[in-house]
Amino acid sequence: MANNQVNSGTLPGVDPGVRYMTLALREAEAAAAEGEVPCGAVIVLNGRIIGRAHNQVETLRDPTAHAEILAITQAAAAVGDWRLEGADIYVTKEPCPMCAGAMVLARLRKLIFGVRDPIRGGAVSVFPIVAHPPSPHRLEIQEGILEAECRALLQEFFRQRRRDEA
Ligand code: ZN
Repeated sequence: MANNQVNSGTLPGVDPGVRYMTLALREAEAAAAEGEVPCGAVIVLNGRIIGRAHNQVETLRDPTAHAEILAITQAAAAVGDWRLEGADIYVTKEPCPMCAGAMVLARLRKLIFGVRDPIRGGAVSVFPIVAHPPSPHRLEIQEGILEAECRALLQEFFRQRRRDEA
C-alpha cells in the first residue's frame, strides 16, 4: 500500500519522521510569510498525507484556525470519518489545550512535535491533555524532532514582531 503512495518531499534514506516534520516546518514558514505565528501540522495515515496546514488565525480572523485544527478537519474530510484512528500528527510546536483536545477527540494515534511550549503546552509542558490517564483515548507522544529548526523559526518570528512594535 505504501508503495504507490509517494509523498511530496520524499527524500530517499531520510527518516520518515524527519521528512514529515520538514513538511510541517515548510507549513510553519508559510504561516510566518503571511504574518501568522509560525506553526505547521501534517497528518499521516498509512504513509499517506491526509492533512497539511498552517496557522491562519489572522487570515481567517478565526481564533480556532490553528494549524492542527485545520489539518484535522482536512484529514477527516479525506477519509470521510471523524475517527482518525491509526493516523499520526506532526506539529512544529507542542499543541495548545484546544488542539490537544481535538487530537484526543479525533482519536489520533500519535503526536510528534518539535519544540515545547512552556506557556500553554497541552501535551507535556503545562496541561497533560494528550495522554491524560483517565481519558478513554490517549496518544503516544514523541518530541524533539527538528527541535532546533522549529524553535529558531518561532524565535525569529517573535524577534521580528518585537522589532516591528518598537
Ligand atoms: Zn492550538
